[in-house]
Amino acid sequence: MDKILKSAREKISVGERLNFDEIIALYNENDLLYLAESARRVKEFKSGKNIFYTINRHINLTNVCSSNCPLCAFQCRSGDEKAFTLEIDYVEKILLDAKKIPDLNEIHIVSALHPEKNFDYYLDVVKLTKKILPNVRIAAFTPVEIANFAEKSNQTYEKILMTLKNFGVTNLLGGGAEIFSPRVREIICPKKISADTWLEIMRIAHKLGIKSNASMLYGHIETIEERVEHLLKIRELQDETHGFQSMLLFPFQPLNTELGKKFNLQRVGAWEDLKMIAITRLALDNFENVKSFWVMLTMPIAQLSLAFGADDLGGTIGEEKIIHAAGVTTQKNISRADLEKIIRETNYIPVQR
Ligand code: SF4
Repeated sequence: MDKILKSAREKISVGERLNFDEIIALYNENDLLYLAESARRVKEFKSGKNIFYTINRHINLTNVCSSNCPLCAFQCRSGDEKAFTLEIDYVEKILLDAKKIPDLNEIHIVSALHPEKNFDYYLDVVKLTKKILPNVRIAAFTPVEIANFAEKSNQTYEKILMTLKNFGVTNLLGGGAEIFSPRVREIICPKKISADTWLEIMRIAHKLGIKSNASMLYGHIETIEERVEHLLKIRELQDETHGFQSMLLFPFQPLNTELGKKFNLQRVGAWEDLKMIAITRLALDNFENVKSFWVMLTMPIAQLSLAFGADDLGGTIGEEKIIHAAGVTTQKNISRADLEKIIRETNYIPVQR
């Protein structure tokens, strides 16, 4: 066996941290069942037999976006046939409906970067959410949106985050990280904030006591080395702040995207999804949870991922627009009973977060 691979396997057997070359060696070895068994051992050490889930309602406020990322199927220009923007009275209606969901514990708000909506609009949504659902966690906005609010209102990231926290935002979302490589970002999302800005906003949020998730978008034009570099940058920030709760992996959905058309991309297969979940569980030794976002993975792959180191199946969702714009045909929500049944089939124990 190759020396680096041997070292990786030895480290895994004693729970030591893997380095860049060792993670690459494990990826290239492609021994899926070894990765599954090793990642599952880490998962069970971290969270035992528990698999977490959330009863939540997603709200996408608008799909009108000034960023025009080639990776995105969700965005629209103002005036497009598919364009929508929820006015505050409509958001109120959604929240009042959500209030009827038994045991709801999270509202999840993520949107495009509307060129005409200012920070006050988003703040009003947060205030209204807090008013209608005072005991529900508000997981809202990615660093990309935070940077947009800061630019539009001429305030610092810290001020924006502090204001959101004061009005009820408890968690920042982990999206917009994509792949940190500047080479890739220049092609897939040239106008989006840089990797350094994404990391800096997360650093500030964590220091202010706002927890968040982290993410990676894989399966487009990135190299395996760029994926591993991305994971290690997230691991480095976690060493510093300990503010990340879960890591999410998003397989790129090429349908209806400029990027997919330009490079003739196909969605990666289940093997790649499961391998990346196991590799991530092994690489991110300082993360408590690895989350499988079932709406993107499809439920059969998400369920299988529980044998590959994932320990969180995400939420019941309620309604989802961003991923479905890319042609994903998974259902848009799931009942608590169905989510728990899917978890129990794996012999793990469903636990609401
Ligand atoms: S990925 Fe986000 S920022 Fe980029 S175009 Fe889509 S909605 Fe806008």
